[in-house]
Amino acid sequence: MQKKNLDHLLSETVKILKDLIGFKTISGQKNLDLISYCEEKLNSLGAKSVRTYSANKLQANLFSTLGENKGKGIILSGHTDVVPASPGDWTSDPFVAREKDNKIFGRGTCDMKGFIACTLAVAPLFSSKKLKVPIHFSYTFDEETGCLGAPLVLAELEKKNINFSACIIGEPTNMKAITAHKGYNEYITHFTGLSGHASNPEVGVSAIEYAIQYSNKLLELRDELKKRISKKTIFSPSYSTLQVGKISGGLGANVIADQCSLEWEVRPINKEDGEFISNNIDTYAKDILMPKIKKNNPKGDIKKEIVGEVVGFNKEDSSEAVNLVCNLTGDNEKNTMSFGTEAGLFQKSGISTVICGPGSIEQAHIVDEYITYDQLKKCLKMLISLQEKIIN
Ligand SMILES: [Zn+2]
Repeated sequence: MQKKNLDHLLSETVKILKDLIGFKTISGQKNLDLISYCEEKLNSLGAKSVRTYSANKLQANLFSTLGENKGKGIILSGHTDVVPASPGDWTSDPFVAREKDNKIFGRGTCDMKGFIACTLAVAPLFSSKKLKVPIHFSYTFDEETGCLGAPLVLAELEKKNINFSACIIGEPTNMKAITAHKGYNEYITHFTGLSGHASNPEVGVSAIEYAIQYSNKLLELRDELKKRISKKTIFSPSYSTLQVGKISGGLGANVIADQCSLEWEVRPINKEDGEFISNNIDTYAKDILMPKIKKNNPKGDIKKEIVGEVVGFNKEDSSEAVNLVCNLTGDNEKNTMSFGTEAGLFQKSGISTVICGPGSIEQAHIVDEYITYDQLKKCLKMLISLQEKIIN
């Protein structure tokens, strides 16, 4: 690859990335303009595209294919949604990309529109040649809030019976191959008590007190998680974790709170640990807390809302996708991580999967999120090598 070509592709990537940052695709909100932008670019190169929609039709996944659908193709996958940003905290508008010191700043630059921009920038290279196997571009919605989009794409692909050799998910890993990650389960538990004046506790039911008991039970179960591992696992920390991240409720010291909610998460190292927590806390709520919260208070209730349950991504002994990426990047370092992605879902569909993308997870979700040109270049190099590998 000549330096001139790489420089050209980098400036193309930056241009596309700036456009992508301008689409305010916060999870749960409309992403159709961004999807149309990507679809037009790919279709103008001869790609065949399929969209799958969220129930309210405001969000779509795009799955576009270059090359003939024969042989086992390769998927380049990224999510189009970004986490929210409070503009007041940022140096400049989070949804207007800003270049400085060979970095590009903006919400989603690193997680993970940088990768999507790279794939769109190299797409013309794939379309200009005859391909041995097709190359697929998968752009999903609502990954950040429980991977809601990806299952729809995967269901569609299963219907079509297409074979794939590998899926590369370009989440920020500093271009290192990630071979496994923990699951990610997120919940909000809502408590409904009965309001009353604090001077007469007998007339009310404090939702806060039940939330505290529930929370204490969670912490007890958290300690059990540590005991459940028999040998050191590949993860760090090596056991499944649980934390209560937010508690909200109540009006003031002299009012019995009728509402309280707990936001909490589990990062299980295996499916069983996730089920262990869910089953135990549900039984505790049903058998111990519910009869008490309902006493003298028919409206009393405890409801566990599942925000998202993202399956873990398991290490395979010999993974076609991991071998492919190591071969393309020339870097054999393999890691695991403790945050969730769509990788487990692709894997569950029988597609060999690896996570490898530009940028560092330390820059994701933060104020003044950025990606370096150096990381974008490394990603472009990987995609160029991929193109060289699959052209006839
Ligand atoms: Zn991400």
